[in-house]
Amino acid sequence: MAAAPSSPAVVLRQLRRTFGSTVAVDDIDLTVADGEFFAMLGPSGSGKTTVLRMIAGFEQPTAGTVHLGGVDVTALPPNRRDVTTVFQDYALFPHMSLQDNVEYGLRVRGIDRNARRKQALAALEMVRLDHLADRRPHQLSGGQRQRVALARALAVRPKVLLLDEPLGALDLKLREQMQIELKAIQREVGITFVFVTHDQDEALTLCDRLAVFNDGRIEQVGDARTVYETPANRFVAGFVGTSNLLSGTVAEQVVGRTGTWAVRPEKIAVLADPMAGTTALADGSTVREATITEVVYAGASTRLLADLGPVTLTVTTLNAATTGDPIARGDRVRLAWAEDALHSLPD
Ligand code: ADP
Ligand code: MG
Repeated sequence: MAAAPSSPAVVLRQLRRTFGSTVAVDDIDLTVADGEFFAMLGPSGSGKTTVLRMIAGFEQPTAGTVHLGGVDVTALPPNRRDVTTVFQDYALFPHMSLQDNVEYGLRVRGIDRNARRKQALAALEMVRLDHLADRRPHQLSGGQRQRVALARALAVRPKVLLLDEPLGALDLKLREQMQIELKAIQREVGITFVFVTHDQDEALTLCDRLAVFNDGRIEQVGDARTVYETPANRFVAGFVGTSNLLSGTVAEQVVGRTGTWAVRPEKIAVLADPMAGTTALADGSTVREATITEVVYAGASTRLLADLGPVTLTVTTLNAATTGDPIARGDRVRLAWAEDALHSLPD
């Protein structure tokens, strides 16, 4: 069955999976567009892997459907779905050369020898490992092994590539380098990527759009900026980045209004020349007095805890200036935030 070109790459409808009394995936609806770099972000145990396995066909849904390219594949086995998966543990064959590892998926699909060679080499080129095609996996670094796993998945030219925490085993430096490479490769091949991670920085860095998972459900879907700037609820505000949450009497005292409010730490300024007694600036910014209770220097930025009385706020300041007295524990300061730094949340 040929897919209509305008169909979304992946559509999940009312997708559900239970294991005994555990609801791993709780009636999820989701559409991933063709060519998108889509991230599934959520804490461990929130159902991300189970969703990925149902898209791949390794896991059968308890209820609901999976459509790929407009075709209902819910009842189809993995090998009849146009997707491949890259796992965190690479799953390479230790006794085979890189070339043979990458060719493996093509052989299974019955591609002839010549085409196989070419496609595998092209995939190894894409991850810049074509010069090591004759090596075995144990002769590679962790980052190189992950690139082979990626090449193997890309070689079969699937419509959708599923990646389950593929960078989880790499150290931070390598991980950040691979994130940039992955993004470039995805742009180049134009394949739809569905990328699972519990790391919010990674999700925000990589994705065109993301879904935030919590306890088997999706809390919010949107692009990185939308999810970060306008989180849908307390969970998203707290899980994606750091948020100061103000509600009840604290909101009344600190914000001056009822309701629940989120304020990002980097949107709070520490005033250089505080004027005692001011509670607002000319531009409408709110000003509040506070005592610094903690200072965490982190190179590019400094994270402060500021006690306002009713609540302690986290404040992040950029260390742009190299001179002047740094803020110290015990300092009395004034904090200021603009009206648009406040984001209203449902209670
Ligand atoms: P994530 O990938 O977000 O960490 P998972 O999809 O692996 O989450 O798991 C979601 C929930 O389903 C967890 O509570 C997990 O323990 C449970 N679960 C996943 N797979 C199985 C299984 N094969 N048998 C029993 N419970 C499972
Ligand atoms: Mg998982």
